[in-house]
Amino acid sequence: MTQAIQSTTSCDAEIEARPARERTPADRKLRVINLCAVVVPLIGLVAAMTLAWGRWFDWSHLIVLWAMATVTAGGITVGYHRLCTHRSFSAPAWVRYALAAAGSMAVQGAVFRWAGEHRRHHHHSDTEGDPHSPHKSADGSWGEGIFATARGFFHAHVGWLFRGRSRGLGKYIPDLKQDRALSAANRHFPLLVLAGLGIPAVLGGVITWSWMGVLLGFLWGGLVRILLVHHITWSVNSVCHLWGTRPFAVRDESRNNPLVAVLSLGEGWHNNHHAFPASARHGLRWWELDPSYVFIRLLGVVGLARDIRTPDRARVIAKRAASRHVPEPASPGVGG
Ligand SMILES: [Zn+2]
Ligand SMILES: [Zn+2]
Repeated sequence: MTQAIQSTTSCDAEIEARPARERTPADRKLRVINLCAVVVPLIGLVAAMTLAWGRWFDWSHLIVLWAMATVTAGGITVGYHRLCTHRSFSAPAWVRYALAAAGSMAVQGAVFRWAGEHRRHHHHSDTEGDPHSPHKSADGSWGEGIFATARGFFHAHVGWLFRGRSRGLGKYIPDLKQDRALSAANRHFPLLVLAGLGIPAVLGGVITWSWMGVLLGFLWGGLVRILLVHHITWSVNSVCHLWGTRPFAVRDESRNNPLVAVLSLGEGWHNNHHAFPASARHGLRWWELDPSYVFIRLLGVVGLARDIRTPDRARVIAKRAASRHVPEPASPGVGG
């Protein structure tokens, strides 16, 4: 799963028409915004730890962190990824907005850009056109050996945010641009980011009834939570294209990684996802825990999700059986 912290909310046609290699002012602006979005949460972590060292800490702030992380990570997995990018179920306009708003608070970019980058990832997965492959750079392979693996990992995890192209995404999301609810969420991205920082600050203040509580709520439930969710999301891009199992022989290097799956609300069943990208369900076996799918089913039970797409069981079994006869890639690491 992709994603960046790009906050530019439009895919400008004039910018898209320029050669891919040319760095535009929009590219430079995006790099600065992404740099801030990567560094500021780190500063927040240092500040929160320093205050905790001085005994300015309350367990209630970790509960706020957990609640905000669950809501915003769910906004990414259920809203940005399975609903908007892959259209694996449908939902009323207010639910589409609410899910995209929750995803926006994760500060991984406005929904159109996120979905565009992720569709590009599926379209060019682990080839030169992939925005964040640990196996292929825009110029070809990362090379051989442990340092090449490290470079590929870093690029897929976070480095691509500073190298990527800010243009050419419009062609991937024409359907999303027609959606008024998602267009509103896309436009409101900066406000939603502020809301994602303000809500935990208010909660921290109300719980402890102090200004220090406001600050600690902002740090733990805002910045530290953003850092945590960033690295979990980025691990799907990096770890899940390097290490794990491959029950399905797909044309890319995607892998199922149980640890990432547990942390990412089910997104770590990434080989399953590349094999059946339109499926709302990523954990395809009973033991493949997939809380995001459980939530989608719950939405369905109360009438807020329809047309929930899952692959036919016989098709899954047949594809898994056929994959056993396909040899594994030569190396799980980085290479040609
Ligand atoms: Zn996907
Ligand atoms: Zn992938």
